[in-house]
Amino acid sequence: MGNQSNKSAQSDSEWRQQLAPEQFEVLRKEGTERPFSSPLNDEKRRGTYVCAGCGQKLFTSDMKFDSGTGWPSFHSTIDSACVTRRDFKLLLPRTEYHCANCGGHQGHVFNDGPQPSGLRYCNNGVALKFVPDEDD
Ligand code: FE
Repeated sequence: MGNQSNKSAQSDSEWRQQLAPEQFEVLRKEGTERPFSSPLNDEKRRGTYVCAGCGQKLFTSDMKFDSGTGWPSFHSTIDSACVTRRDFKLLLPRTEYHCANCGGHQGHVFNDGPQPSGLRYCNNGVALKFVPDEDD
């Protein structure tokens, strides 16, 4: 504990100090934000989406598409940035994914995304921070 570089070992109370309540609910408790609540839904600039918990780069703007669901959506992730896990919270199995660095929950991945990946990473906007490209 107290090791700043080892985010995966942080306690809930440490995370609570670092995150806004709505970020804590999603990242550490696997909550889901209300659809159409995130300004990142409409973010169209070029840049990088990083984990709001630890800053790890998860997606680029090239991976984003408009799914119409009300959550920021991506057809792929930066290599090795995310880890998936089966989730039975709604009885039907879904595939949860989280930041590979800090373990923070990001969203769920579905098989109805655009080709060629065919995947739709349905991400909570509150779990991300957008870093625009400097020349944009
Ligand atoms: Fe993270």
